[in-house]
This record gives sequence, C-alpha cells and structure tokens, in this order.
Amino acid sequence: MNFNHQKIEKKWQKRWRESKLYKADNKKGNKYYLLVELTYTSGDLHMGHWFAWTAPDAFARMKRMQGFNVLFPVGGFDAFGLPAENAAIKHGIHPREWTYKNIETMRSQFEKMGPSFDWDKEVITCDPEYYRWTQWLFLELFKKGLAYRGKVWSNWCPECKTVLANEHVVNGCCWRHTATAVEQKLVDQWLFKITDYADRLLWKDGPERIEDGERSRTSRRIDWPQAAIEGQNNWIGKKEGINITYDVKGLKDKITVFTTAPVNFGATFIVLAPEHPVVEKIITGEIVVPGKILNELKNYIKKATNKTQRERKTTEKEKSGVFTGLYAINHVTKKEIPVWVTDFVLMDVGTGAVQGCPGHDLRDFQFAKKFGIPIVRVIVGEDGYEGPVEKEDQIIEHGMKGKFINSDFLNGLDFEVGLQKTMDYFEEKGWGKRVISYHLRDWSVSRRRYWGAPVPIIYCRRCWEIRNKSQTNHSSPVTNHDLREGVDYAILDDGKEYIIHPVFEKDLPVELPEKADYMPEGLAPLATAEDWVKTKCPVCGSEARREVETLDTYVDSSWYFFRYPSPNYDKGPFDKEIIKKWMPIKVYFGGPEHILGHTLYARFITKFLHDQGYINFDEFAEKRVHHGVILGPDGYRMSKSRGNVVNPDEQIEKFGADSVRLYINFLGPHDKGGAWKTEGIEGAYRFLNRVWRLITNYRDLVVIEKKDAEDILRIQHKTIKRVSEDIKILHTHTAIAALMEFTNLLEDVVNKSQTQNPKSQSSHYSPITNHKIRCAEWDEALKTLVLLLAPFAPHLTEEIYQRYYAGISNFQFPISNELKNSQIKKLNRKSKIENGKFYSVHLHPWPKYNPDLIVEDTITIAVQVNGKLRGTINIKAQMSNDKSEIIELAKKNDKVKKWLDRKEIKKEIFVEGKLLNFVV
Ligand SMILES: [Zn+2]
Ligand SMILES: [Zn+2]
Repeated sequence: MNFNHQKIEKKWQKRWRESKLYKADNKKGNKYYLLVELTYTSGDLHMGHWFAWTAPDAFARMKRMQGFNVLFPVGGFDAFGLPAENAAIKHGIHPREWTYKNIETMRSQFEKMGPSFDWDKEVITCDPEYYRWTQWLFLELFKKGLAYRGKVWSNWCPECKTVLANEHVVNGCCWRHTATAVEQKLVDQWLFKITDYADRLLWKDGPERIEDGERSRTSRRIDWPQAAIEGQNNWIGKKEGINITYDVKGLKDKITVFTTAPVNFGATFIVLAPEHPVVEKIITGEIVVPGKILNELKNYIKKATNKTQRERKTTEKEKSGVFTGLYAINHVTKKEIPVWVTDFVLMDVGTGAVQGCPGHDLRDFQFAKKFGIPIVRVIVGEDGYEGPVEKEDQIIEHGMKGKFINSDFLNGLDFEVGLQKTMDYFEEKGWGKRVISYHLRDWSVSRRRYWGAPVPIIYCRRCWEIRNKSQTNHSSPVTNHDLREGVDYAILDDGKEYIIHPVFEKDLPVELPEKADYMPEGLAPLATAEDWVKTKCPVCGSEARREVETLDTYVDSSWYFFRYPSPNYDKGPFDKEIIKKWMPIKVYFGGPEHILGHTLYARFITKFLHDQGYINFDEFAEKRVHHGVILGPDGYRMSKSRGNVVNPDEQIEKFGADSVRLYINFLGPHDKGGAWKTEGIEGAYRFLNRVWRLITNYRDLVVIEKKDAEDILRIQHKTIKRVSEDIKILHTHTAIAALMEFTNLLEDVVNKSQTQNPKSQSSHYSPITNHKIRCAEWDEALKTLVLLLAPFAPHLTEEIYQRYYAGISNFQFPISNELKNSQIKKLNRKSKIENGKFYSVHLHPWPKYNPDLIVEDTITIAVQVNGKLRGTINIKAQMSNDKSEIIELAKKNDKVKKWLDRKEIKKEIFVEGKLLNFVV
C-alpha cells in the first residue's frame, strides 16, 4: 500500500500550524538563527525558490531535533520595486493590490511544501509599519552625515526628461520613445556614504574555518565563501598609490593623475576622461586649441557620453581617443608628453586622468600602439631582454618580477622597491602625494519611482530665504556660504535652492500617497500627488515640499533580518535586547548574485548600527552559503521561452511535497544543484513508498541471525554519523544516499527472513502477522530511519511517527557492543498525544551515534588460480593494498586451498582492492 500523500500532507501542515510547532521562542535559550534570503513578490514560487530553501529547511529541522531553539523565517517579502509598478501601469491596478495578491498566492504555495517556518515572524517591506523603520534608518544615516544628495551617472531620456531604470532602456533607446537614444547624464540622487566604510568592509586575512559549526556568541570568527570574499574585496578595490600633478605647457591648469605603479621614466602620454575639467575648458573655449582639434574633440565627447559606464569600462573593445593639442611635462625626463582624451578613463575613478606608461601596462600599450605614441622600456623582466617592447607578451606589468633600467637613479632596483623610491622622490620634490584609492563608489539609494519607501526629507524655500536675508541685512554668523550643497541645501527641479530638513522621527512613516501618475513626463511620479507633496516645514512652519524620490529596494533589504525576531516591535526597528540574543545569524543562505549588492550593503548597515551602539556585533552573518542552480530536464536554466520549466505545484500534486523535497535535496550539494529529471522524482517517490511499506508491514519482524543484527547496528550508527555530518555541510545528496543504503540493508534482511519463513514465501511483500518475536536492533533501526529521514520528508515521517512512536519517552538507543537481539522489547504504545502535548517527530531528539560501533567497511577480493575464479575473501577496506596479507588469507581460504594444493606458485598477480591471481 502506498502512502496517501495528498491526505497526509495537508493534515500535518494544518496540525503544525495550529500547534505553532516551529515557533522560535524569544524567551528560551539555545538560540539558532538560520536565514534564507528574502523572497521577491513576483507572484509565483518556482522551482528555484524551492531549491533555495529545501536544504536549509532540512538543516533547520535537524538543528531543532538537536535541541536548538531555531528561528528560520522565510515568510518575508521584498515587496517594493519596479515590477509591481510596471504591472500597475500595464493592468491598471494599484501596485499594492498586485503585491499583496502575489504574497497571498506565494504564502499558500509555501504552505503546500510544509516548511518549518514560524509564521508569526513575517516581514513585508512595503508595510508602512516596516518602511517606517527603513525611513528611520535613512534619517540615522542622514544625521551622521552618511546620506547626502550627490550626482550619479544615470540613464536619461531627453523626451521623458527623466531618469530611466536599466529595465526601461531597450536597445539603447527609451522604452516609450523607441527612436530616442538614452543619454548618460549626471543627475542628483540620494547616496549613502558606504565609501567611509570601505576599509572596514574589506575582508582581512581570509576566513577562519570553523571546525564544529557551533560557536559562542562573542566569537568574531566568520565563514563566508571565498567567492564572496574575493568578489567584495575586488569590488572595494583598495589601491595604494600616488597622485602626481603635472604642469601643462603654456597653461596655468595642472593635471593630476593617480597611479599605483609610477614607472615615470616610461610615462609618454596622459589620458583624460571626457568629463575632465580641462576638457570642459577646451570645449567652452576657455582653453584655446586649433579649430580642427576642437571639432574632433566635440564629436568624440558627444559619442562617449552616450555610452554607459559599463560599455566604457569594457576592456576588450578597440581603444579610441583624440588628441587635445596640449602637452604636459614629464617631471623626470623633462620631455613634453601629449594629453589625450579617451572614454576608458572615468571621471569618478581616481582623478579622471591617467598617465600612460605603455611599456608596462597592456591598455596603455594598445593605446600607444594605435596612435603612434612612443613606447619606452624602463623595467626588464626575468628573461633579461632589454630591447624595445614591441609585442604584448613583452610587457612587464606591475606585480611581475623585474628590475628598473633606463631610469637614472632607479636603475638596478627591484620593481617594487623602485616604485616606493619613486614615490618617496616625488613626495620630496612636491610633485605628488601618496593616497589610498578605492574602486567602491557611494551607494545610490533613491529612485524617481512610485513603489518604494518615500525618502523622509522636506525641502523648505522659506528657510533658505530667511538665512539669505539674515546674511545680507545683518552681520549674522550664519551665512549661506557655510551651507553645503547636497547636505544642507539642494537645488530642485525649479532651479531654486531649498534647505534640507529631515522629517521628525515621530512623524514616521511618511506614507505613500494613494494616487499618483506612475509615468509622468518630466516629473517623478510622487511629484504628481500635489496635495501630498505640499507639507509644513518642520522648522519655520511655512509651506514646504516633500522629497519625491523613493528608496531603492536594496535599502529595504539591507536591514530586514534585524526585524524578524521582533516583527511587531513599535519602539524601534528592532528590540535591542532580543537581537543581542539571536544574532549574528548562524548561517545565511542565498544566491551568489548578491555578492556585490545586497550582502555588501547589509554588512555596511550592520557596521553602521554597531557604531551607533544599537548592536554589539559588526558582521550580521557568521556563515554564508551560496545556493546552486536547478536546471530544466534538458540541462539548461529553466525558462518559459525554452519550455523546460518544471512547475512545483504540479509535481506536489502528483508526487507530494516530500518527494519533491527529497528529490531536490538528492540533486547534488546545495551550492551546485543539478538538472531536474522525471526519472529522478519518480525514484524519490518510490523510495519513500519503500520506507512506508518497510515500516508499516515489517515493523514486527524478527532479526533471525546474529550477524544481521550486528550489521544493522553498525550501519545504523554509520548512517547517523553520515547524515548528521552531511546535512551540516549541506551535502544533502550524500545524506540521502546513506539513508537509501540503510533502507536497502533493512529490506535485504526482510527478504532473507521471508525466504526462511515458508509461511510467507508466497507473497513477497505481504504484511507478516505471525511474527511475535521482536528484537531491539530492528526496532531501533526503523525508528532511526524515520528520525533521520524527517528533515527531508517531514510529512511521511510525521505520519509514521504518530502511528508508532509518538509519546514513547523511554525509547533508548543502546550504544553498547552487547547485542541483545534475542531480547524482546515491549513497546509501550501510549496515546500519541499525552496530556494534550503534541509529540512531533520534528521535536524528537536527533539520534546520536556511537563511534565504537562504526567499524570500517570490508571489501571483497576475487581470488583466481590461473585466471579462473576459485573463491573470494573479505578484508577490511584499509588493508586493500596489503598484498602479502591478502596472499596469506587467500592461501588459507578453503575454496582456494584445494586449487593450490601441491602446486608451485610461480607468480601472484595483484590488483589493489580487487583481485589476486595465482599463476601455478
Ligand atoms: Zn522617453
Ligand atoms: Zn522652513
């Protein structure tokens, strides 16, 4: 009889929910916080979602059974953002309606899988009670000078007169004006000064490996994937170098370049970003250059500014540039070197100007080669070749071994030593200054979109005028000259100055207006809600304007994990005392695509909150585990256009949530994944039915032979060890393989007892009713199988547990070598629910293994005489290469012995771990 998954699964899901089985108790100790990334409210949970959290769910279940008070909240939603707004534009419904409808659908999809969530711990980022605290976070940063208005390169449609999201740029054109090319424009936006934390966000010395997984709260040790550590460190891009200031021939203007490798005897040109102030002066005519050059320059800059930053940074493309007509003076060679403009130099990286040393930098080499600029060798590599650099493979770059040549006082010095000496020399001469530069930019956090948390800022023109008046009429110490643009005041779309005021904390949340035009021309959507925009200045009380930009969803998700333990707390974003007990998170599961965005922002916010004294740790997650990808049956990423999407709802209907869970966990290690196969899910389904039949039909089986009992006990303890260890490292596939092997063994014993029992020979799998003799090893084995399978098949195991094991508290696992296979253990089947308490398999203590009972595996060696198989011997696995010992054992083997009797052994051919052939 198969188990009825449809009936069983619904029944237990209801029971778990009603009994709050997975409740994370803030009052209890032994806390263990596991987290899977927030789900976006797309409206449909696909197989990728399942894959992302089924293994973590198994992990959470094991931890709970091991006695931990586990917080595993997955019922949270990243609910703001552009898709809701797009859906609203397309279907004419409110983004809120779209979002909450999707949340409902997704919740019910989640429930069908029977996850071990605490449903009381839910956060939805578009709830005013949530974004109230997102706005609070913004204000905290603002008060500390870490939020400001600055200029950011953005996609700009000259027709819409507005910033476009990347999704709204189609083939380089506006999605609404398909013939209008999108331009790149510097636009005012709110930014968080994450660069102030650049050095602290760098991972130092790599991760410390954790041996046992369990650590004390005060421990600073962290364990993040190498890919995350390297990715973030490269992105932060700390560089120690020097700013060198060049004189320009015939001009007062100077050009400062940043370099980490000042091989200045080889510097033969300078390149400027198209936005460099010197270039701007040429364009405006302030610096006069020949007309032909000016025209070329103008054309080039126009093209360059239409490219996106990413296009400009691409390294593979053909180098382009134009000469400015200017020359700078090389400090050490005293030569005049040409100044060019190129789009691969970005104004917001370094100083927006770079010195070209084409003998020792690939990009400089390609540029010099193309435009016929001299290439000078000043470093000789390990090959000792001192001739000219003519090919790319002759370039000795920074980081390679080499010595200085053609460099006057540096000649003969090692590459690194010479660079330091050059920097000393330039600093001494006053030509340069050592600096540390970072690739990391400030984080742009505001968007001209509707569906987001409004930036809690009020602009007051009256306050600006009051200050202006006091400055001109009286000799007031406060003058507008003290005010900093972007921090104290902003120039809004009308071109006027306004004083920036934060909204009072007591006035939070600043709720979104119910109605706004989502796609107005030339305006931010919120600007169309005129009544909403008009407000009172919190300082002077006169009419003022609200900020019309909303926060990026990355701000919403940068702190949500602090909210889970106390999701209804209303005196702050989180209860400090409760957070102290739960955090940092033990393991944070999520996608590798968040290395540079979400996890970096979350680390920044954590460090900031730590500095403000809100928390006592400065890394929010001790361990990070990336998930892999589940592919379609054809081995490609599931996508609607390929038609290879496997719908989880259909699979649950057919095979049950347990089968789907088991199969996903069996696909491979969590960080790799694999391709969905129909045979695979069918196999998982069959396996669960085998376990079901084994326990329901053969629970009362006797173990006939002592050897079987020994095997069962040994394999059982080995299985406990393997499953426990494999779940801990998210190698759920090998944990399940171990459970399958264990099940095979138990079935073999059943089959053996069946064939030895003439009464039941007729029906191989029929329930045995006539066995009255029981044995402890068998009972334990079956129960252990159920417990170890519980994290993967929570419904099936609950059903079995409730039928046969619940409420039996004195069930002990013997861990001695003493076999009691003849003893009859009477199971006291008390009521399943004792004193109204629900004894769930998911709270049953996790089995422990006894190392003494885990004996090494044996392997079988085939023994041949003159190439014919004459017998086999079993040896311990670790002896598999011990030739002489195996020969001795083989000679003593009864079956082999007679073939060797009175014969001369000429040779022994031995294949390690497999075969021994006597040539006689
Ligand atoms: Zn447009
Ligand atoms: Zn005011």
